[in-house]
Amino acid sequence: MKNITILGATGSIGGSTLDVISRYPDRFRVFALTAHRQIQCLEELCRQWQPRYAVVSNEEDAIQLRQNLSDIPTEILSGKDALCDVASDAEVDMVMAAIVGAAGLLPTLSAAKSGKTILLANKETLVMAGTPFMKTVRENGACVLPVDSEHNAIFQSLPETVRQVMAKGDFYDSGSLKYGIQSLILTASGGPFLNTPLETFPQITPQMAIKHPNWQMGRKISVDSATMMNKGLEVIEACHLFNVDANMIEVIIHPQSVIHSMVRYADGSVLAQLGTPDMRTPIAFCLGVPERLNSGVTPLDFFSLNHLSFVQPDLKRFPCLQLAFDAIQMGGNATCVLNAANEIAVAAFLENHIRFDQIAQVVSETLSKNSSQADSDTIESLIDVDQTSRQYAQRLIKSFQAA
Ligand code: NAD
Ligand code: MG
Repeated sequence: MKNITILGATGSIGGSTLDVISRYPDRFRVFALTAHRQIQCLEELCRQWQPRYAVVSNEEDAIQLRQNLSDIPTEILSGKDALCDVASDAEVDMVMAAIVGAAGLLPTLSAAKSGKTILLANKETLVMAGTPFMKTVRENGACVLPVDSEHNAIFQSLPETVRQVMAKGDFYDSGSLKYGIQSLILTASGGPFLNTPLETFPQITPQMAIKHPNWQMGRKISVDSATMMNKGLEVIEACHLFNVDANMIEVIIHPQSVIHSMVRYADGSVLAQLGTPDMRTPIAFCLGVPERLNSGVTPLDFFSLNHLSFVQPDLKRFPCLQLAFDAIQMGGNATCVLNAANEIAVAAFLENHIRFDQIAQVVSETLSKNSSQADSDTIESLIDVDQTSRQYAQRLIKSFQAA
């Protein structure tokens, strides 16, 4: 029996995780569920799963939830320290890191410090603080299993020996990318605006941007997919997860999202992982490895596929992808700045404060004014960088609105 904490249980990944777990009541016990403010949804989940703990962000919400759930034994906690506590509790085996954005960093780090198996969906942790985070994983015998579908596909397409060392958490010392691996190929859907006329980009609304052609996801990552910042974040994520330089990563647009990513080998082989686009597949893989669990995903029907196509990304259409490459090139704290500016810009776009095409503008200017090449290798210094970059981006957005 494995005890699991699900950080971000009320979200898209959280829901898919509980769906897979519900198929295996003899294997997994839900230890803790967390949510930001969706207390009604969390209340229902608590009734269904009766976890030991539930965590919300605010104490007022916790008080309400305690009243509503007084008939079940779940203990209701609130605040950031409580998130870290339920991620590091001695009874916990696995932590699903599925909070969206920078808010996921400290609880995920707390799981790493206590040597947990981390099912990592929160890519922002690696974009903000990949170097110190992976160091913490290594030093504490933790293990990171990639939930992001592309990284999971690459993980599945790596040699089994590499997967085994990686699953034990010491992948990063193993030099495993010597196994004839030439490159990691990240596929991207291109999002809903792959063929939209560029001159209409300023008219794109939040409703249009969150309607992804292939995947059902939270709002923030849906907008990131529409700008292709998501792929930029994923390149950074892959560099840290697989211990490679960005020049070993190829990005290919594959609008059907059937091939979830690939590994190119020296002998000319390319290994790919395919499937119906449904996050329950990578989640089930991480929950079961080395076994394959039943995920409930509709089997891939080859005869209903018209064709699979591949397109080179257009960096003019998707300036956010270019900005992510720029941030990698800059080094230092630049990817942390990139992430902070992007979170603020996406939130402002979703609130109709800025236009779709201004997201890249906010990120670009914040990046050029706030990044420094000096190595920021402590979590504390990166959290400072995150805060100052957010403030800068906020001021920029105000100046756009005033203009
Ligand atoms: P979501 O918006 O659906 O859910 C986010 C969860 O985080 C919710 O439970 C919410 O309550 C919680 N949360 C939000 N802000 C918080 C805060 N300040 N403090 C504490 N908790 C907070 O998001 P999602 O689509 O499930 O994505 C979660 C993460 O997984 C993101 O990092 C995303 O990039 C990554 N991811 C998602 C998908 C997908 O298909 N949805 C795929 C790959 C990676
Ligand atoms: Mg992905």
